[in-house]
Amino acid sequence: MSATIIDGKEVAARVRAEVARDVAELRERTGRAPGLATILVGEDPASAVYVSNKRKACAEVGIVDFHQHLPGDASQDDVAAVIDDANRDPEVSGILLQLPVPKGLHGKELTALIEADKDVDGLTHVSAGRLMQGAPGLRPCTPLGVIELLDTYSVALEGAEAVVVGRSDLVGKPVAFLLLERNATVTMCHSRTRDLAGVCSRADVLVAAIGRAEMIGPDYVKPGAAVIDVGINRTDDGLRGDVQYEAVAERAGLITPVPGGVGPMTIAMLLRNTVTAARLAS
Ligand code: NAP
Repeated sequence: MSATIIDGKEVAARVRAEVARDVAELRERTGRAPGLATILVGEDPASAVYVSNKRKACAEVGIVDFHQHLPGDASQDDVAAVIDDANRDPEVSGILLQLPVPKGLHGKELTALIEADKDVDGLTHVSAGRLMQGAPGLRPCTPLGVIELLDTYSVALEGAEAVVVGRSDLVGKPVAFLLLERNATVTMCHSRTRDLAGVCSRADVLVAAIGRAEMIGPDYVKPGAAVIDVGINRTDDGLRGDVQYEAVAERAGLITPVPGGVGPMTIAMLLRNTVTAARLAS
């Protein structure tokens, strides 16, 4: 293996420690610690685990927990009322509606009700618009994690050829805009892209956010490129990324493993966003 392995666990631990210091400083200065309202609707086991991990991480850094758990048969209005309360509560710095919501509810419409300055997931239309226009605001967590990893490993972004595979609102599009904000030359690829391997192999920075186990092989990778694998795919052989890790590591300059690369960054950046939101409000 020739690539440097990007250690997401280590970077996430450093970000969490910074957040803990920032929380203490805010509490000291304003008399109030940042608070996060996680909203979980229904009993989906995976969502319950995600929310529980986020709450534990908050507790570790001193962020106050304003968790709300609504039953699976809660109506759109019930959930909207909880979001509305959290929007108006000065103790709540950030609001996170765990997606997906149960069938019958409209997750996008509910998410849109979150005040942009409390939108710590960065998924509302207002946050997306702010990102697109380069205005200050809260950015989505996993994309922020990608940039944090690249910065930590001193990957030059200005003028670099960056290729993002995947164009979801959650990952692909915001990653592309964050890279553009940093003056990379950005190409966005998707399922209709022609000659994907040819486009990807131009990239100095290649971000895979596809959701297809080990789709990106060495023939997609320019020698020495930084390869960021956002994919998390459960296969019969265990957890796999979108990148053929072993083979690509022979060709890339830097690479994130799965697990232990981008994954740990998402919660770390959620914590940082909660502090950012608290600062906006203070
Ligand atoms: P998504 O909404 O399903 O989007 C997947 C994207 O990949 C789409 O834009 C799709 O193109 C594109 N795509 C699918 N097949 C393709 C192909 N054969 N060639 C080129 N592009 C193709 O997924 P997502 O929410 O962005 O998530 C992507 C992956 O990241 C998943 O594995 C997910 O589990 C993982 N993830 C990880 C984290 C983390 O914390 N590490 C967070 C979020 C997501 P079209 O638009 O043309 O359909």
